[in-house]
Amino acid sequence: MKRAIFLDRDGTIIREMGYLNTPEFIRLKKGIIEGLILLQKNGFYLFIVTNQSGVKRGWVSRNRVIRINRTLIELLKQHKIFIKDIGVCFHHPKERCRCRKPEPFMIWRLLKKYPEVQIEESYVIGDKDSDIKLALNVGAKGIKVFSHTDFRKVATQILKDG
Ligand SMILES: [Mg+2]
Ligand SMILES: [Zn+2]
Repeated sequence: MKRAIFLDRDGTIIREMGYLNTPEFIRLKKGIIEGLILLQKNGFYLFIVTNQSGVKRGWVSRNRVIRINRTLIELLKQHKIFIKDIGVCFHHPKERCRCRKPEPFMIWRLLKKYPEVQIEESYVIGDKDSDIKLALNVGAKGIKVFSHTDFRKVATQILKDG
């Protein structure tokens, strides 16, 4: 059995920039490298689950979003952090899709692909109420982060919780 961390992207791994539309503007948040390494060392799978409705709003192209995600995953890889998989919702809220957080589908899809993940022992981490609601909807634990949150502290707390 494996435990997992489902990480929101904007405002959680990287600094909130409104709608990020170019990879050059990626800035990792405080303690992300150290915190994720710590969680990875302790056997957690790391996933990213992100809502990107900016595509439908016309603020960023779908290809840009994909490029930014790739750049971010590469950047983390340079630090020996391995993102196991990523879920992206490209829909507009009005489309009422099944994947937009806090709908559980993005995580359900990942659980189907990685059946060894024990959801009750896993965490959803994000900066919005919808991330916490997502945690409730899938039966995981939720942790809310803020712009000033040092991610090392989040990781330490998770390990302390056992
Ligand atoms: Mg966010
Ligand atoms: Zn969607």
